[in-house]
Amino acid sequence: MKKITVKASKTYDIHIGEGLLDKAGFYIRQAAGGNVAAIITDDIVSPLYERRLAGSLTGSGYRAVSHVIPNGESSKNPENLVTILNFLADKKLSRKDVVVALGGGVVGDLAGFAAACYMRGVRFVQIPTTLLAAIDSSVGGKTAVNLPAGKNLMGAFYQPDAVICDVSLLSTLTEEVFADGCAEVIKYGVIADKELFELIKKPVRDNLIDVITRCVEIKRGIVIEDERENSVRKLLNFGHTVGHAIELLSEYRIPHGHAVAAGMAIEAAAAAKMKLCTAGCVDEIKKMLRLYNLPDSTNYSASELSDICLSDKKRAGDSLTMIFPVEIGKCVLREVPVNELQSILDLGA
Ligand code: NAD
Repeated sequence: MKKITVKASKTYDIHIGEGLLDKAGFYIRQAAGGNVAAIITDDIVSPLYERRLAGSLTGSGYRAVSHVIPNGESSKNPENLVTILNFLADKKLSRKDVVVALGGGVVGDLAGFAAACYMRGVRFVQIPTTLLAAIDSSVGGKTAVNLPAGKNLMGAFYQPDAVICDVSLLSTLTEEVFADGCAEVIKYGVIADKELFELIKKPVRDNLIDVITRCVEIKRGIVIEDERENSVRKLLNFGHTVGHAIELLSEYRIPHGHAVAAGMAIEAAAAAKMKLCTAGCVDEIKKMLRLYNLPDSTNYSASELSDICLSDKKRAGDSLTMIFPVEIGKCVLREVPVNELQSILDLGA
């Protein structure tokens, strides 16, 4: 088992290994204490893993209660947030009790925001069950729900008290959902780690613990340096400006990782046209995306994409910070004037 400690505004451990779900109660008691553990999960994950988690929590002295949401991005909405808050109140959670997110990024973002809001903040533990959640959304404390105008527009920075990543839970993922996580692994390789990029030329599944550990270490380093995304944390948004626009335009039918994959390809191609990186670098990124059956383009036009990007919460006044690769393992931040965005996206499309 690997343990990675994050020293941000809160210090917490991330446990990564096989078979950790059955020991979750022990880790949660150590990290969070309390009497009641409220499991938030979705209707695919619940029949697979909820009973084992509840058993482990009960074995560690908790009263375990659970609330199940429908799976999928459309559940990440303010209505479900309020439903969860009412559920926590009904179950009489006190400020010392703990909310446990058992699921992918949707459950983690929603449950985390509920934990941040309920009584102005209760204990919170993430048990990621997708690759994307394991390497990205469960670490670093971003929690949110979507508004009709855009993704993650309502949220809070709220660090968990622990993250328990049982890699054996990923064995039940569909190929498509696993590939979503691979898009984020590729992102880490491009922004920060050429060796990781080389490693994943062999299937990610063959080196799961090493790949997850490496990605989490990269994210930890970035979060420690810039928890509230004033500078380097923005690097994690490589592919996401365009990716979020694709998600929204598709009304969330294109999943997050697939949208980010196309976003990375478009933003990288634009970087090459702007002479920030070589065409060879773009080819390498696109080849890697195809290796994991991820898209390297989109049918949406540059004008459709730029219209949506302009409502992105990362926009600051007349400019938008975008992330462009200069080589595999290194990206840079660039302020893009909003009136140039469409022509830049045209370069990549
Ligand atoms: P998801 O949570 O929707 O999960 C994808 C699908 O896999 C769902 O249908 C889910 O029910 C199913 N599933 C989950 N675990 C499973 C398992 N072990 N076996 C079988 N099926 C399983 O999607 P995701 O890709 O995990 O997360 C995407 C979300 O994460 C987006 O909302 C995105 O905005 C957010 N995100 C947040 C951050 C952050 O820092 N907070 C970072 C990246 C992404």
